Amino acid sequence: MFQNTKDSKTKLSELGEFGLIEHLTSHFKIQHESTIKSIGDDAAVFNHSEQSIITTDMLVEGIHFDLSYMPLKHLGYKAVMVNLSDIYAMNADAEQITVSIACSSRFTVEALEELYAGITKAAEVYGVDVIGGDTTSAVKGLTISITALGQTKRENIVYRSGAKPNDLLVVSGDLGGAFLGLKVLEREKEVFKVNPNSQPDLTPYTYIVERQLKPEARKDIVDLLKALDVKPTAMIDISDGLSSELMHLCKNSKVGANMFEDKLPMDPSVISTCEEFELDSTTVVLNGGEDYELLFTIDQNDYDKIKANPHLTVIGHMTEAKEGIHLISRMNTKIPMKARGWNGMSEED
Ligand code: ADP
Ligand code: MG
Repeated sequence: MFQNTKDSKTKLSELGEFGLIEHLTSHFKIQHESTIKSIGDDAAVFNHSEQSIITTDMLVEGIHFDLSYMPLKHLGYKAVMVNLSDIYAMNADAEQITVSIACSSRFTVEALEELYAGITKAAEVYGVDVIGGDTTSAVKGLTISITALGQTKRENIVYRSGAKPNDLLVVSGDLGGAFLGLKVLEREKEVFKVNPNSQPDLTPYTYIVERQLKPEARKDIVDLLKALDVKPTAMIDISDGLSSELMHLCKNSKVGANMFEDKLPMDPSVISTCEEFELDSTTVVLNGGEDYELLFTIDQNDYDKIKANPHLTVIGHMTEAKEGIHLISRMNTKIPMKARGWNGMSEED
């Protein structure tokens, strides 16, 4: 499928550790005043005048990604996105990242250049400084760990714990695409194994494949909420799937929730691909991960400010904890939610 090693020839050992670090990082430019000292000393120095927010996410080959369908450039971009998404989910802005990689000798200088091209693109688009990291060899595979740093005023930070009964439950964008994109890529990988000359036509799946390979963290939603003068009462990003993120919000806020099946936002290609794979689209939206949308709650009084916005969908409301967490089906039945799926229906069904 993708030729991650095409034209790759320079062994990492030819540059040596310091040469390699220099080669991969010398082009990074500093954009933020808060970055005092970047790559090149024993540690970086930054100066946040507001409260600092920090998060780390690690991606491991064979667990989180498969290089037979994940181009390295996309992997670099995605590794940054999954981290920025966590900063934005705190209603903060990201300013710095560090990047640590461990890789086996099967990777070449050209392969790491590709990975860093994706990291560089993400850093440019989202306006973050790459201020350090670590580079080491590994016996097997590729691991990439990124740490993101951000800052915001204390009163802006939104935790998972602030939702109140009667708050509205809102989600950005649409859901289920990233999971289905992975399904399509996995299917094409199997076809390719049988017939290496096959050229997959992924055109009908462009949107969902892009959702899997090139997710975008919703910085725009944090900016939008600020512009609309709406501060969510609680917020979380959707990395594992809507149902499990909703459970986290409810547990941390000590509330229950009613979520409406007919409100769940789906792209038309999600619906058509679910039909093709004979999957229930609601199950896919509830359990499919990696959409990196924001799930948040707002006070009912803020409804008018967000109701006309095409990027935001009200999908339910919060209740007293004792009422539990339910999906109200299209048939108007109340189905208790579980961590994965809900009563009588799991991913395997
Ligand atoms: P040390 O031995 O003090 O840990 P290194 O030689 O590992 O220093 O790193 C030198 C500089 O390069 C440091 O500023 C470090 O943060 C940075 N650096 C190392 N590897 C990476 C990487 N993969 N991406 C970005 N910066 C890196
Ligand atoms: Mg080091």
